[in-house]
Order: sequence, then C-alpha cells, then structure tokens
Amino acid sequence: MIVAIDGPAGAGKSTVARRVAGELDFRYVDTGAMYRALAWLALEQDVELDDGRALVALGRAHPVRFSGSAVYVAGHDVTVGIREARIDRVVSAVARHPEVRAHMRDRQRELAATGDAVVEGRDIGTVVCPGAGVKVYLVADETERARRRSAERPEVADEALATDLRSRDERDAAQMRPADDAAVIDTTRLPVDAVAARIIAMVEAKSPVGA
Ligand code: C5P
Repeated sequence: MIVAIDGPAGAGKSTVARRVAGELDFRYVDTGAMYRALAWLALEQDVELDDGRALVALGRAHPVRFSGSAVYVAGHDVTVGIREARIDRVVSAVARHPEVRAHMRDRQRELAATGDAVVEGRDIGTVVCPGAGVKVYLVADETERARRRSAERPEVADEALATDLRSRDERDAAQMRPADDAAVIDTTRLPVDAVAARIIAMVEAKSPVGA
C-alpha cells in the first residue's frame, strides 16, 4: 500500500511520515529531499535555475540516492546541506519547471512501486500516486508553521524565516492542493502521536483482515 502525505512546509509532514513509516514498517520516501538535492547540485555546478532542460540533464546524470535517513547526490552526502536556508530559498525555482516535475514524478513512481511506502511531498496524492490507498493532506496555521521552522533553523532570524515560508508557499501554490479523496488534517494543535495514530488507523481500515 502507498500512503501519500502532502501539504505545505511546516505542516508536520516529515515528522509524521517518518513516524507512520516506522510504526508500519513501510519505506519512507521524501520527495522534497529529491528536489532539494537537485537544487543543491545545481548551485554546486553553476547550472542556471531557470533552465529546466539543463536541470533535468543534471538530475538524470546524478540521480538522488537514499540510504537510511542519509541523502546522496553525485558522491556528496547532502543530508544536512539540503536543509540549509539557502536551499529553502531556491528549491521552488527548481521545482516549478514542468520538465523537472515530469522527471521527478517518474523517479518517485519507481521508488514507490517497490512495496509498501509512505510517500511525502506536495503532489503525491494528486499526480505521483493518484491511486494511493491512503491520502492525507496536512495543514497548520501560518504562525505555527513559522514557529516549527524556526525550531529547525535556529541560525536564521524569525522574520526572514516567515518571509521565506510565505514566498515558498506562493511559488509552490500550483502544486499545493489536496486530492479530492484526501483526508485534510489540521495539525496546529495536534501532537505528532495523534496525527500518526489517525493515519495508521486509516491504513488499518484499508488493509484486509489478517494481511
Ligand atoms: O517538503 P520540502 O519542504 O522538503 O520540499 C522542498 C520543496 O520541494 C518544496 O518547497 C517544493 O518546491 C518542492 N516539492 C515539490 N513537490 C514535491 C515535494 C517537494 O514541488 N512532491
């Protein structure tokens, strides 16, 4: 079964997706990390961020690889580097190209096709895995999302983080909508455990008895 978890930055996707995958013993596929790794590599190799074809060529030449919670691209361990604020600021410019999205979609489908997985992103329930068994779209108040980001990026001033988050929301808007059959969960006041438990219950309700 595929569990699709979508939503904007700071809605709690990664924490919840990791928890659900761990408890169900499903693989965890972080599609945002794939866009981030491509953005990281484009900066490293001076590839123009507005050249979609060049970005796809770069992505094909250097596929992103996951090993446990580590992320690798072109021989670099980018696990930490892709979470830097400089990547937050450019990743949507990479992700906006239709040809980059088509390339990522195909690669993400391959990763999702190899068994049970929790796949996290923006367009998993709508585009990448529209047949997912469970679809969840997480949301949270803007102030709470900014607070969570600031806990993750203590080195960046709160005002700059709030501005970054807002401009990323605007640039990602084309991808950000819940699938018609997604359950929308507001995580603003819900602890991670409660959100994960709701999703696990949805998976169990869909699984054949004794499977
Ligand atoms: O989820 P995360 O914040 O790591 O995603 C980074 C960026 O990658 C998003 O802001 C968005 O531009 C892009 N993205 C996307 N589609 C996905 C996952 C991420 O466009 N499925």
